[in-house]
Amino acid sequence: MTPQTDPRAGAAVKAVDRAHVFHSWSAQELIDPLAVAGAEGSYFWDHDGKRYLDLTSGLVYANIGYQHPKVVAAIQEQAARMTTFAPAFAVEARSEAARLIAERTPGDLDKIFFTNGGADAVEHALRMARLHTGRPKVLSAYRSYHGGTQQAINVTGDPRRWASDSASAGVVHFWAPFLYRSRFYAETEEQECARALEHLETTIAFEGPATIAAIILETVPGTAGIMVPPPGYLAGVREICDKYGIVLVLDEVMAGFGRTGEWFAADLFGVVPDLMTFAKGVNSGYVPLGGVAISGAIAETFARRAYPGGLTYSGHPLACAAAVATIDVMAEEGIVENARNLGASVVEPGLRALAERHPSVGEVRGVGMFWALELVKDRETREPLVPYNAAGEANAAMAAFGAAAKKAGVWPFVNMNRTHFVPPLNASESEVKEGLAALDQALSVADEYT
Ligand code: PMP
Repeated sequence: MTPQTDPRAGAAVKAVDRAHVFHSWSAQELIDPLAVAGAEGSYFWDHDGKRYLDLTSGLVYANIGYQHPKVVAAIQEQAARMTTFAPAFAVEARSEAARLIAERTPGDLDKIFFTNGGADAVEHALRMARLHTGRPKVLSAYRSYHGGTQQAINVTGDPRRWASDSASAGVVHFWAPFLYRSRFYAETEEQECARALEHLETTIAFEGPATIAAIILETVPGTAGIMVPPPGYLAGVREICDKYGIVLVLDEVMAGFGRTGEWFAADLFGVVPDLMTFAKGVNSGYVPLGGVAISGAIAETFARRAYPGGLTYSGHPLACAAAVATIDVMAEEGIVENARNLGASVVEPGLRALAERHPSVGEVRGVGMFWALELVKDRETREPLVPYNAAGEANAAMAAFGAAAKKAGVWPFVNMNRTHFVPPLNASESEVKEGLAALDQALSVADEYT
C-alpha cells in the first residue's frame, strides 16, 4: 500500500468539511476530524502519511478490512450491470444476498427484510413485533445501543438517548446481567444470571405480560461495553418470551457476521430469536445495508396481510452485491474461524497480560475479536477512570489515553471509561500484536490517572 501524502490536500478537505459537513453526535465547533487520505486492509492514513492500525474497524463494521479487492470488484461489476432497481422487483443481487444471509442465520430465520443500516432494522423489527402481537410495549436493556432514529434511540440505554427520549414511546428499560458492575449484588455468574432473569420476569409481571410486544437485546452488548452474557441468560430470556408470547428480538448489528467468532453471536448460546437485526459486517460497510431476519411464524403474519413499511433503497443492488461478495470472501478465507482462533490464542492472552502490567485496567472481557478493557482509578473499588458519561475536562484521562494510542500508531475505540479492541476479523497475528504493543504504551499514560 502506498499512502498518498499531500498535506495541502488534507488541509483543503478539512476546510471544506468544517464549512459544510454537519457531524453526528458532535458539538460542531468543538471537533477536529482527521482528514483521511486512504485505507487498505487493517490500516488507514492521513494526508501527512501518518498511518494508523484501525482497532475500531471503522464503527465496528469493516470486518474484512478496507478495500478488499474482491468486494470492490463485485461493486464495480454490479454498478456496470444494474446500479439500482426498486425493491418491489426481484433482482439477482438482492435475492442472492437474502439467500446467503438466511442460510447462515440460526433456526427458521429464513426471510430477510432489507434496510439501509442498523437503526432502521431495529425500527422495522419492533414494528413487526407490535403488529404480530397486537401489543404496545417493548422492553430493552439499560446498557445498550440500538441506533439513532426515533424508536431505536428510545430503546437504547446509552446516555445519548436522554436528549431524544419520549415518555410515550412505550419502552421500559431493565437491567441485563453484568457481573463486574452487578445491579443484583451477585458474586458469581450463576447468581448474576438467575437474578437478572428473575428481575426481567418481575418487570414483565408488573408491566403486564399482555402489554409487551417484544424484548430487544443485543446478543452481546457492544457500544455499551461488550458484556458477554453468562451461560443460560439468553436461553432463559427465550423461555420467558415463549411463556408470555413475547417476541424476542436479538440485535446483531455489531455482534453479527463473525465478530464473536461465530457467524452470529446467537450461535454462541444456541438461542434462536424470532427476529434478528443485522447491518455493518453484512457487507463490511462498503455500501450501506442492514436488515431483519424473520422467523417463519412472523413471516406468516404478513403472508396475506400487507406489511405496512418499506424503504426506497431496501435491498439496494450495489449494497447486496457487496454483501454477496463479503459473505463469499468470509467463507473462502475462513474469516469467522480466524476471529475465533486469533481471538482466543493472541487477543485474549495479550489483553490479559496488559491487565497484569497496568493498574488502570479493571476488567478485560469479550469473545472472538470483540473485546473491551474497562479502565478504573482503583481496581479494588472499581471506580471508573472517568465519571459516567464524562465530557470535557472530566474526560482528561481517557483523552490522554486516546492521544497516546494514536501517537503509538493505532486508532482506538474509546467510549466513557472503556477502550474496545475490535480490529478487522482478517487482521494478521502480527497486526494484532502491533495493536497490543501500542495499547501497552497508551495504558502507561492511563496508569498516571489511577
Ligand atoms: N444496533 C447496534 C447493536 C449497533 O451497534 C448499532 C450501531 N453502532 C445500531 C444498532 C445502529 O446501526 P446504524 O448506525 O447502522 O443505524
